[in-house]
Amino acid sequence: MTDTANSPVLAQLRQGLLETTEPRVQQAVAEIVRRDQVALAECFYRNMLADPEAAAFLSVQAVSARLKPGMARWLEQLLCHENAAQLEAVLAMQHHVGEVHARAEIPVHLVARGMRLLKREISNRLLVTELSRDDLISAVLRVDRLIDIAFEEMSAAFVYSHEKGVRTDEAYRMIATGNNLSVDRERQTSALLDWENRLFRALATDGSLDQIATLRNSPFGLWLHHKAALIFDDTRELSLIDEGMRRIDDSLLPQLHGVSRPSMSSDEMRQQVRTIMTEIEQIKYLLANMFDRLSDLEVGRDVLTQLFNRRFMPTILKQEIELGRRKGVPFCILMVDIDHFKQVNDQYGHDAGDRVLQHVAGLLVNQVRASDFVFRYGGEEFLIVLAELDVEQATHVAEKIRRRLESARIAIAGEQQISVTLSLGVAAFDGHPDYQKLVDRADKALYVAKNGGRNRWVTSE
Ligand code: GH3
Ligand code: MG
Ligand code: MG
Repeated sequence: MTDTANSPVLAQLRQGLLETTEPRVQQAVAEIVRRDQVALAECFYRNMLADPEAAAFLSVQAVSARLKPGMARWLEQLLCHENAAQLEAVLAMQHHVGEVHARAEIPVHLVARGMRLLKREISNRLLVTELSRDDLISAVLRVDRLIDIAFEEMSAAFVYSHEKGVRTDEAYRMIATGNNLSVDRERQTSALLDWENRLFRALATDGSLDQIATLRNSPFGLWLHHKAALIFDDTRELSLIDEGMRRIDDSLLPQLHGVSRPSMSSDEMRQQVRTIMTEIEQIKYLLANMFDRLSDLEVGRDVLTQLFNRRFMPTILKQEIELGRRKGVPFCILMVDIDHFKQVNDQYGHDAGDRVLQHVAGLLVNQVRASDFVFRYGGEEFLIVLAELDVEQATHVAEKIRRRLESARIAIAGEQQISVTLSLGVAAFDGHPDYQKLVDRADKALYVAKNGGRNRWVTSE
C-alpha cells in the first residue's frame, strides 16, 4: 500500500491551500457533469476501445458491466463534491486506482490520454452554457485542476507500486536460479532427449508421427517458454534455442510427415534425420551453457518446502497474464489449503506439522508439469499456476492432487504415519489484467470448498 499521509496534494487540501472556485461556478460544473456523466463515460470508453493499444487492456464486457458505471460515479464524486472531506475521499481512492493500474501494467500515458479526453469533452459542454466569460474560464480551470490532481494522486501510487514490482522481478530472476537448478537441468535435458527418442522410435517403427507433439508443445518447449525466460536473463541463447525449435517444428517435422514422406528416398530421409539431430545437439549445447553460467548463483526459496516464495507470485502472474492476452491461451490458478492443519500441530507437534508441509509441497510439485509454478502462499497455503490449461483440465489436476494426498500416509516421528486432506479453489484467467482479481477469485472458491465440507475443489464462477 502507498502512504496517503505523505501526499502533498492532500496536505494542501487539508490546510485549505487548494484554490477554490465561486459557488455558482462549482454549481454550473456540477450540473453539467450530473447531467452528462453517463454520456461522458460512454465517450471515454468508446475512444479507449477504438485505440488498439488501450483496447488491449479492456474487455468489452468489463467495460459495460463495471468500468463505465465506475467512471460515471468517479466523475460525479470528483467534479460535484460539496466539501473538502468529500474531495479528500475521492483523492484517497485514486491511490487504489493507481495500484490496480500498476498491477495490470497499464501504461501511464494511456491514462493521461484518457484524462485529456475527459477535460476536452467537459470543456466543450461548458462552452455551450450561458456562463459569463469569466465564469466560463473559471469553470474550465476548475475541471482541469481537479482532474489533474486526481491524476497526480493516481500516478504517485502507480509509480510506487510499479517500482516495487520491478524490484521483485529482478529479485525473482536471482532466486529462480536457486536450489532446483540442478533438478531443472536434469529434467529438461532428459525431456529433450525423450522427445528426440520418441521421434526416432516412431520413424524406425511404423513411421507414423501422429503421436509426436511438436517440440514447442512438448514438456521441454512449455518449460522453455514459461520458465526459462525468467531464469536466464541473457535472452540471446534463449532466442537461438527458440529459432532452432521453430526450424524443427515448422520445417523439418512437416517434411517427415504425411504426403511428402512416401516420396522421400531413404537417403533424403537420413539427411533429414541428421539435420534434426544437429539442431537438437545445438539446443542441448546452448542449454548446458546457460545452466553452467547460473549454477553457482545463490539460493533463495522457502526454506522449509523449497517452493517459490510468494513474493514472486506477482512476477509470474503478470507474465502469464501477458502471455494469455498476447497469445490468447488460457491458464488457471489453484489456491490450496491443508484441512484442519492446526489439529496436526496440536496433536503431533510442530515438527510433524513441518513434515506434513514438506510432504504436501513435494506432492504438489510432482503432480504438475515443469512449466507450472508452485508457491508457498502462506503457512499451510499454496498457490499453483497451471500454464496453458483451461478450467476443465485444471480441475483434473486439482482432483488428482486431492486424491493423491487423501490416500497418502505421511511418515512423522518414529513409526507413526498420518493422513491429511486439502481443499482447492480453481480460477481460470478471464482476461482481467489485474492478477489480484484472479487470486481473489481462487480464494473465494477455496472458501466455498472449505464451507462445503473440505477435501474437495470448487471452481470460481
Ligand atoms: P482449515 O481446514 O479451515 O484450513 O483449518 P486449519 O486448521 O488448517 O487452518 P488455520 O488457519 O486455523 O490453521 C493453520 C495453522 O497452520 C496455524 C499455524 O500454526 C499453522 N502453521 C502455519 N505455518 C506453519 C509452519 O511453517 N509449520 C507448522 N508446523 N505449522 C504452521
Ligand atoms: Mg489456511
Ligand atoms: Mg488450513
